[in-house]
Amino acid sequence: MSRTRRSFLIASLASLGATALTPSHPLRASPPRFRQDPFTLGVASGYPTATSVVLWTRLAPSPLEPGGGMPGAVVPVEWEVATDEKMSRVVLKGTDYATADWAYSIHAEPYGLEPARDYWYRFTAGNARSPIGRTRTAPAFNSPLAQLKVAVASCQQYEQGFFTAYRHMLSGNPDLIVHTGDYIYEVSWGDELVRSHGAAEAYTLDDYRQRYALYKTDPDLAAAHSACPWLVTWDDHEVSNDYAGSIDDDNDEPELFIARRAAAYRAYYEHMPLPRRALPFGALMRLHARRAFGDLAAFFMLDQRQYRSPDACSPFGRGGGARVKLSDCPEIDQPQRQMLGERQEAWLFGALGNSRARWNLLAQGTVMAHINEQAGESPRYWTDSWNGFPAARARMVDFLAERKVANPVVLSGDVHAFIVSGLRRSARDLSSPVVASELVTSSITSQALSQRTFDTWTSLNPNLLIANGESRGYLRLDLTRDRLQADLIAMDSVKKANAAGARTLKSFAIEAGRPGPVAL
Ligand code: FE
Ligand code: CA
Repeated sequence: MSRTRRSFLIASLASLGATALTPSHPLRASPPRFRQDPFTLGVASGYPTATSVVLWTRLAPSPLEPGGGMPGAVVPVEWEVATDEKMSRVVLKGTDYATADWAYSIHAEPYGLEPARDYWYRFTAGNARSPIGRTRTAPAFNSPLAQLKVAVASCQQYEQGFFTAYRHMLSGNPDLIVHTGDYIYEVSWGDELVRSHGAAEAYTLDDYRQRYALYKTDPDLAAAHSACPWLVTWDDHEVSNDYAGSIDDDNDEPELFIARRAAAYRAYYEHMPLPRRALPFGALMRLHARRAFGDLAAFFMLDQRQYRSPDACSPFGRGGGARVKLSDCPEIDQPQRQMLGERQEAWLFGALGNSRARWNLLAQGTVMAHINEQAGESPRYWTDSWNGFPAARARMVDFLAERKVANPVVLSGDVHAFIVSGLRRSARDLSSPVVASELVTSSITSQALSQRTFDTWTSLNPNLLIANGESRGYLRLDLTRDRLQADLIAMDSVKKANAAGARTLKSFAIEAGRPGPVAL
């Protein structure tokens, strides 16, 4: 890192750190009288442990206006947790203070809840009361858990469709929703648009706040947040297309892009049910996290954007991904190229090495499967995925194999297609053993490349059991001790707000102790 950039980062850390730790005047806060409902963005929960879960809301009577229509003063917000859905048996309550600095978001972390049980929660601010959300704590450490139902979502471009996939998802009563990124899109794009951002590309904090608020006004997304806890990670569009660390695809000055990233990260934190551990300081945010569900499953939420090396062989003068032949871009194979960054990678290996869970799920943004995109002497790779970071992928797969991590499954997004594969010990050698499985979910709404492209991928890469980008949808996972079943749920259409029909495109099973998915 250059000296200039380092001192810039330290300066922004110092100033933002100060505001983060000193809310303006909490003791002078008085409950306001709202003339409009301030709970327009709903409620959410996330990151359950055996004794706690993050409870989220944000006060925004006019969610699409700068400041959300809040006056500026500190607002005390009471949260309550109950053991019944009518909130008649409240077991814990407390008060947090919503401030303009953090867009009037609340991230309450009640402690002392009981493991493995349902709870209901709500917020009260002055004369206004939020809808009631349902959540659930995790089982006690390593205690027996027979089953976990998980839904996996990614890529929800607002203009390209309605978030009806979440409505269908809730009909299956998931215990947990995992989002692998592109929760918002910073920019308008696509065909057959059904609604509009009503705003230009996001650059500033107000822009990103407004974008999250807009997405969260979708009733199906709000319902999914209030139905069960979530675990989240980002991909690129929460900030900017194909960005890598401090380089974006416009190849702006890194100092300039880092300021934009700080705005985007802050807005992300403000709108997600993230634990205090993830509080951003300037452009730095510790998003990677682990959550275990008894002895059955551990989730490792990975950040493959903040710390990655620049994408290899970007188009001249630009940053971001490219489709390049390996022979034209030997840089791809440089061993020092990082996808998770050294620190996160060391954290992950430590956490995986200690895991006692039957299933170890690594949730992250981009495709890990080896995909050669063109026939020829030299393979052609999309450099923004793990195919542009083969040394980092090999370190990961080697670790999983050498340490015999139990039943590793990678959950990915980004390509707007369902892709299921076994990850080989040596990615380019299909005769090497399968070490892990990868399940890539299609998009909630975002459009894909043509199916002809995906058909080329499957014909050139026999490791891919399916590559289907024709349908929007999500993954439904059913985990038990001996088996993980993954259903690829394809929506009939996402172009109509009032229709949520879907079919199971295909199902795959992974048997415990036998790495690699098998088609059912
Ligand atoms: Fe996407
Ligand atoms: Ca992406």
